[in-house]
Amino acid sequence: MLCVGTHSDRRSACAPKGAVRNHFCIYKMSYMLFSQILGQERAKRFLKQVIARDKIPHAYLFTGIPGIGKTSMAMALTMALNCDSPVDGDGCGRCPSCRKIMRGNFPDFLSFKILPDKKNILIDQIRELNRELGFAPFAKYRVCVIHQAETMTDEAANSFLKTLEEPPPGNILILNAKEPRDLLPTIVSRCQRVAFQPLPIKDMVNWLVKEKDLDEEKAEMLARISAGSLGRALNLCGGNFLDKRQEWLSRLIVLPGLSREKGFEMAVECAAEAKRMGLDTTEDGEAGILDMLTMWESWYRDLLILNAGDMTHLLMNVDFSHKLKNIAEHFKIDSLIDSLLTIDRARRDLIRNRNTKLVMEHTVLGLRRLADALGAKGTAQS
Ligand SMILES: [Zn+2]
Repeated sequence: MLCVGTHSDRRSACAPKGAVRNHFCIYKMSYMLFSQILGQERAKRFLKQVIARDKIPHAYLFTGIPGIGKTSMAMALTMALNCDSPVDGDGCGRCPSCRKIMRGNFPDFLSFKILPDKKNILIDQIRELNRELGFAPFAKYRVCVIHQAETMTDEAANSFLKTLEEPPPGNILILNAKEPRDLLPTIVSRCQRVAFQPLPIKDMVNWLVKEKDLDEEKAEMLARISAGSLGRALNLCGGNFLDKRQEWLSRLIVLPGLSREKGFEMAVECAAEAKRMGLDTTEDGEAGILDMLTMWESWYRDLLILNAGDMTHLLMNVDFSHKLKNIAEHFKIDSLIDSLLTIDRARRDLIRNRNTKLVMEHTVLGLRRLADALGAKGTAQS
């Protein structure tokens, strides 16, 4: 989906001087029907039942990890609600309203997300939402989505609570969040909750093979390391991630056999990845240091799985399964758990803006020591 960025319709033009603008964007293109969304059958059934009722609730809380169809579902709901002749609760795709939506010429789908360089949804964005709601929608229904609603500041959440109590007719509010417990209970209780599940690996693999023309092994690896998030899998197969992943895992494989000095050099190289934090924090598709840590985590997780028994079918790095099997026995479970904790600490330290070079020195040398102490030294050649 494409977000066209700045807001420049008739209303902003009339906004008072000094008013904060551009706090939401209008989505263009990629509107979808319920039938075109992968999985999430329960959510689809629930929303279709809701539409069939006379009185449509005005607020929804869509919960689940990013990239599993929450925004697509909000778009499908917009189409179905505004369609002149719905088919089985779905938009028809042919009526003037559906066509307008599919052409990307639909002003009544508003999307609020965290502004660049900010960490929260701010009170000014909620004020702008309120201002928009003050105008009647052009269509039958206007749908407003707030992404990562759990990041609303207290001020924003309290202001939003008032909006939620009594939005003007014809407006549907949708909050997207990972977990309901991250939101004020008073907000959660005023919304219809719709839970989204991570997508089944098999469904993702089939989709990636068919739609993205990937070979099955690569599709399976992407589906597994994305933990059921199609959005993340699509992010990963674009940009430079796949090449970088090979490089990151190769470094980790040789680490146990390196001298302390060479390990130190590797830490410096890894710190250079910090130019970019990672795919989840940037929109340019370039992978960074957090993605490297996620891959390292997946590596130790795979070793742990192999140590716990013959569970090859659960491996994330399926394309490295031969290598993983060869080295798994050199690691003890305690050392693998400590390695995972070391990586988790590194991630938290980087997010807190601790010195990247020091964090990576501590992490790389720590991982080397954990492998070395348990006799894994030299496994690079196995
Ligand atoms: Zn229609």
